[in-house]
Amino acid sequence: MVAFRAAVLHNAAKVFLWESVCYLSKLEACGMPVEVKPRFVVLYGSQKGQAQSIAEGIAEEAEQHGLVADLSCLNETTKYNLEKENDPVVFIVSTTGDGEPPDNALQFVKRIKRKALSTDHYKHLCYALLALGDTNYANFCNCGKTIERRLQDLGAKQFYATGYADDGVGLEVVVDPWLEGLWNAIRGALSKMASDRTAHLKVNTEDSAEETPDSSTPDVQISLLSITDHQNCEPASPAGSIGLASQCHGTASIPTSAPKTQAGDVGVPHVVLAASLTCSLPPLSESSLNVPALPPPYLDVSLQEADTIEQIVGPLNKETLHEVPVSKAVQLTRGDSVKTAILLELDISAYPMMTYQPGDSFDVFCPNRAAEVDNMLSRLGLQDQRNHLVNISLRKDTKKKGAQVPSYISQNISLLFLLTWCLEIRGIPKKAFLRALVEHTGDSVQRRRLQELCSKQGAADYNLYVRDPSLSILELLTAFPSCSPPLSLLIEHLPKLQPRPYSAASSCLTHSGKLHFAFNVVEFPACTGRPMGRRGLCTGWLFDLINPSPVFPGKAESSNSPALPKIHVSLRPNCSFRPPSDPSVPFMMVGPGTGVAPFIGFLQQRAEERQKNPEGVFGETWLFFGCRHRDRDYLFREELEGFVSSGTLSHLKVCFSRDDREDEESAAAQPRYVQHNLLLNSQHVTDILLRQNGYLYVCGDAKNMAKDVNETLLEMIKTELQVDQLEAMKRLAGLREEKRYLQDIWG
Ligand code: FAD
Repeated sequence: MVAFRAAVLHNAAKVFLWESVCYLSKLEACGMPVEVKPRFVVLYGSQKGQAQSIAEGIAEEAEQHGLVADLSCLNETTKYNLEKENDPVVFIVSTTGDGEPPDNALQFVKRIKRKALSTDHYKHLCYALLALGDTNYANFCNCGKTIERRLQDLGAKQFYATGYADDGVGLEVVVDPWLEGLWNAIRGALSKMASDRTAHLKVNTEDSAEETPDSSTPDVQISLLSITDHQNCEPASPAGSIGLASQCHGTASIPTSAPKTQAGDVGVPHVVLAASLTCSLPPLSESSLNVPALPPPYLDVSLQEADTIEQIVGPLNKETLHEVPVSKAVQLTRGDSVKTAILLELDISAYPMMTYQPGDSFDVFCPNRAAEVDNMLSRLGLQDQRNHLVNISLRKDTKKKGAQVPSYISQNISLLFLLTWCLEIRGIPKKAFLRALVEHTGDSVQRRRLQELCSKQGAADYNLYVRDPSLSILELLTAFPSCSPPLSLLIEHLPKLQPRPYSAASSCLTHSGKLHFAFNVVEFPACTGRPMGRRGLCTGWLFDLINPSPVFPGKAESSNSPALPKIHVSLRPNCSFRPPSDPSVPFMMVGPGTGVAPFIGFLQQRAEERQKNPEGVFGETWLFFGCRHRDRDYLFREELEGFVSSGTLSHLKVCFSRDDREDEESAAAQPRYVQHNLLLNSQHVTDILLRQNGYLYVCGDAKNMAKDVNETLLEMIKTELQVDQLEAMKRLAGLREEKRYLQDIWG
């Protein structure tokens, strides 16, 4: 009986705890009972907006779970105070560059890294953390890991296992289940924190009662005793449940809501269907769907006829940008090469302050394609308003937490300018955007397909038809003709048009007043939803700029020759991807394809230094280069061979992945990719790295090459030092930390 009563009391206490968290405190201020929902904090650090949009999603969904979320960006230090925070805190942080925090989290990371902070600085704090990263890049989720490490060093307690989401395979693989489990975890943390506070309060009360027997009970305990309707605290279903049967129109379509038949049924025509962007197959087409909550609209957008039409022909932030002429363009690959690589020379002599070092990169600001902007205008039915001014303000009644007018959209710009220079209209629509588009789609079949694509059940289709082929919003709207979103929805969901970085492929010691860079023209093949292939935005634009009449070497701007094309650029110094400051230290460079670009700058600089100081001691230099065919895409061949002849480059190791091998026997011995050449020179590579304090630089494709090189290095270290995988990983991590193994990778 005693045990039974204890169990009842125990269970009652559990219910009480959660209920006490969700208490209805009768605030007398206005004479009305006011519901106070349990609160938690969401903080984000975001570079491209992904972490921000996840954080906003959490804040928006909180209400459905009977909670209230305080949302802030990590740099909004006046909006939150972790030093005094007594409610659970959820961090959503991405990582950028070579493992750095996003710009808006930099100060926060610096602050929590201060050595002066004591080990119990955050002992009151309960946190959960979702880290976003990309395994194709070095230091996966480094910012999230750094924050987590520091929070724990400073005594904070984790209330929910950290999620590490990988953009390389799709963030949603980790993000979706992490978000699903978050709500229970927050409720658990709130209960635990409330019970800790109650216990703490009790101890204090007892202590003070002993001291002052007549002290009154604190107010807070009175409100904790109020019992609320438990249903308020139950998690609402995070997603609407939809169970519509889908039908596909068109030639390859068939009503998929046809009754299911037993396998082997006689008389039922056997139709093989292909799913596509607009058409799904069972089981998806017959499945109930969990779709994300509808993102609340938050912008009011109106168009206003302008008195004067200002012709703006470039990005707005001209103070930080330089408009420079393209003084030379050379195709580095032969016409029959699979990829087209181009070298451009920019004349930067008008900007003496624009000095750069080998290893630096710079941003190119490119506009959206005029034809796509036109297409978008007509799709929105706004062709005639292209020169109207765009007025954007926050909706007064918006339910979106932390809603702001996008800071990258200036006042007094025309609609044409907005679509040309501000919004990434090639952006891949995220699931929240697809969800919002459903509300603006007339045709029920198309609505259902959009619902599928943003649903949990349709995740594979989303990856296959939207994410992997990099489908743009315009391509999506073309495939779903009954979808007519308002302009405001595009502004709410499309990211900022980002500049594209390129590595300097020259040294300003060799090319005074000039800046070279090399790039591959990116090609997106046709796919379902994209009848024609297209080029990458920036590389396609640069390609068009110099075609059909390429700019020939030596051509100067003069009154009787056509003006040289100009582009807007700004420098992005890279303080670590630099040749060793001590020239006697040996270094190795791995740069297949256009990854060789920065190393041309390294070697030009080394050549100049050798010329200036013929008696100097210069360490060995190695370059591992790779391409498909010796005759078609061996970039900078003459220049590289020249570096070898002059002694600037001690070892040039080149491999060709698609050239025919002469015979079977020699084929086996011939390296195909840069990592094979590294392995063939394993002794030298490990000696330089592990014994001579040398450097290794890797540049180029992040998706495969950088990973393969990393794996190969691990194998080499294991063999050379006779250590196991873990120890080899530690050694490699040590080299990274010492900044002697450096990567500059993209893709
Ligand atoms: P978008 O229309 O933006 O399409 C981008 C998509 O194309 C990506 O999703 C990716 O899947 C794919 N992609 C991106 N880069 C490549 C590539 N190189 N080859 C094939 N597919 C790609 N690129 C260079 O060519 N030379 C450089 O020296 C160079 N330096 C860089 C330095 C840094 C620090 C960074 C971050 C990137 C660098 N890049 C370089 C990549 C470059 O910034 C662009 O991403 C690339 O040129 C594609 O731009 P786009 O607008 O044409 O393609």
